[in-house]
Amino acid sequence: MSGHHHLFIPGPTNVPERVLRAMVRAQEDHRAATFPTLTRSLLERLPAIVGSTTATPFLFASSGSAMWEAALINTVNPGGRLLAPRFGQFSHLFIQTAEKLGYTVDVLDVPWGEGPPLDAIEAALTADSAHEIQGVLLVHNETATGVTSDVGAVRAAMDRAKHPALLFVDGVSSIASLHFAMDAWRVDCAITGSQKGFMMPAGLGILYCSPRVMAGLDAVRTPRAYFDLRAMRDNNVQGFFPSTPATTLLWALDEALTMLHEEGMPQVIARHHRLAEGVRRAVHAWGLRLCATQPSLYSDTVSAVVVPDGADARRVIDIAHRRWQLALGSGLAQLAGKVFRIGHLGDVNELMLAGALAGVEAALLDAGIAVTPGSGVAAATASWRETSPVALG
Ligand SMILES: *Cc1c(COP(=O)(O)O)cnc(C)c1O
Repeated sequence: MSGHHHLFIPGPTNVPERVLRAMVRAQEDHRAATFPTLTRSLLERLPAIVGSTTATPFLFASSGSAMWEAALINTVNPGGRLLAPRFGQFSHLFIQTAEKLGYTVDVLDVPWGEGPPLDAIEAALTADSAHEIQGVLLVHNETATGVTSDVGAVRAAMDRAKHPALLFVDGVSSIASLHFAMDAWRVDCAITGSQKGFMMPAGLGILYCSPRVMAGLDAVRTPRAYFDLRAMRDNNVQGFFPSTPATTLLWALDEALTMLHEEGMPQVIARHHRLAEGVRRAVHAWGLRLCATQPSLYSDTVSAVVVPDGADARRVIDIAHRRWQLALGSGLAQLAGKVFRIGHLGDVNELMLAGALAGVEAALLDAGIAVTPGSGVAAATASWRETSPVALG
């Protein structure tokens, strides 16, 4: 097949040439005296990405979901009770991980497409006057539905209930793309992976812990081995890792952090917003709707598009892949066949997305879904022209 494949799933995302090239290097001695220079530089630069000056970051050779486990076993004693809204497949999997680890989770279910139920969270915490609930599990950006939750509002609900539970935030599809204020929101554990906003291949789990978590690490009685943050902490202080780190991915992270710094996090966040707006205008122009039920919930990293009744989103995705070399995200669990997802995060710009939108349009038509040819691309480019940060000379 000529040309390049168009990757528009919400992770893994496109890896920039600079990051790819940074990984092409000989294997090295991770116990060498010079290695701590790299480790320290990464650990020093990571907190700024989540709006923190106080968090301690950790890097594991793992995917992002391993950090759900790492966060829980390092903070919650065996049999501990947790509270979690469930509003999509990723909040479901986070809850399931906690349950597999032996924790009890009080689940607050809401229809998929909505955000976390703030009143129900506050009520559940207020009712827990004995403070048995030890943590709230929150997915910041529900990648399955294209819903971004308001973490600050969840924190405010916890404060109104005067509840001391820890706040665990899954930021796998938000961190390094969306506004994230770890310190202001008083997030205790922020969880992510390398293959989404960080524009890297999969393989690094990234976990940020608050000072409160760090202070409590030694007192937690839950058995921990590979994901023991105490061992990681003690090695990281010296610039090393307890076992062999994924060195090539560390070099990729080094370059990715440089790129994020060069663009500036406010600009990265603004770019994701304006690109996402264009995608949403396209969806509107096609006469389709998003799974997210209201504009305040719209995600700037992924749009889950609902196909009309009677149509099968799987067919759109299959045609896009086979005929147009375009990878779209599928509908997960209860959304299978009902939505397809367009990932618009990481190393993307207007014309990359215009290509993806052109492919979606063609695949929709191929699948027998009547849209006006060119309407989505026209609406998106009009939106991007209106909001372009580049002045015409
Ligand atoms: C992708 C994703 C995960 C899973 O990450 P893996 O790296 O595949 O383990 C978890 N949560 C959210 C919100 C995600 O988007």
